Amino acid sequence: MIWHEAEFIGQKAESLTTRKFWFKLKSEEPIPYSAGQFFTFDLPLGPKRADRWRSYTVANAYDGSNLIELCISYKKGGLASEYFFETINKGEIVKCKGPDGAFTLPTTTAKNLVFICTGTGIAPFRAMLQHIEAAKLEYPSIHLVFGCRKEKDMLYFEEIEDWAGYIPNFKASICLSRETKLPSPQKNIQYYSGYIHQAYLQTSNIPKGETVYMICGWNQIIDEVVVHLVQELKIDRKQIRFELFG
Ligand SMILES: Cc1cc2nc3c(=O)[nH]c(=O)nc-3n(C[C@H](O)[C@H](O)[C@H](O)COP(=O)(O)OP(=O)(O)OC[C@H]3O[C@@H](n4cnc5c(N)ncnc54)[C@H](O)[C@@H]3O)c2cc1C
Repeated sequence: MIWHEAEFIGQKAESLTTRKFWFKLKSEEPIPYSAGQFFTFDLPLGPKRADRWRSYTVANAYDGSNLIELCISYKKGGLASEYFFETINKGEIVKCKGPDGAFTLPTTTAKNLVFICTGTGIAPFRAMLQHIEAAKLEYPSIHLVFGCRKEKDMLYFEEIEDWAGYIPNFKASICLSRETKLPSPQKNIQYYSGYIHQAYLQTSNIPKGETVYMICGWNQIIDEVVVHLVQELKIDRKQIRFELFG
């Protein structure tokens, strides 16, 4: 198990309840990782490992700089949430281990990709899309389905607009569960009022050929999406991959 020291560099609000946090991994050597992988942090939160250890997916693609971005949502009373949002100071060093995880892009670019997420579940897909753009990878289609409550809760929206303009065959469906007045559609970006399921369940949306469905977020949403994909769209479970936050 390899532990690294990570220096807290800074933070920025991404929405009312979500912030981006930047850490520099302190190593002379590069610490490469694949888009979609995570690090587990040992936070100064008490004597028990269960209190201290929290995993976070890296939200940026590896660029050789050892700078990692985390996208973290605030949970009231959550030990790690309180630490990141209230306590941590610039320059503080925390220990982390990784990279870990196999929630990464398929090795072939021949498959359609459907990325399904809510809230900070967008983190691995943001890293993957940065990688796809930087490496100029071309997939037959990439459909990002992102859900949040209101327009002001959208994460990485300017980048979604960029991807919709620059990444070949990319489109985004943004589902706002508590918004009835929707933003106007933009090139390759469609808005929906309600939950995410409608966006990938529409039969006209199903890409032809082989598709990998990648889902990221909290257990309830992942369970619901898997049931819909298997029971309604008759998708083979082998085509479904997920990363569970908890
Ligand atoms: C592989 C992996 C990657 C992860 N990546 C991220 C990430 O990129 N960004 C991120 O914010 N979190 C991520 N998490 C979750 C993270 O590790 C913590 O669980 C989270 O920050 C809450 O920790 P806490 O101590 O504040 O709350 P705790 O008190 O530990 O929370 C306990 C429980 O509250 C629930 N919960 C907490 N926050 C939420 C939420 N926002 N929505 C719904 N239920 C919630 C969950 O059931 C959780 O198990 C990831 C988890 C794993 C396993």
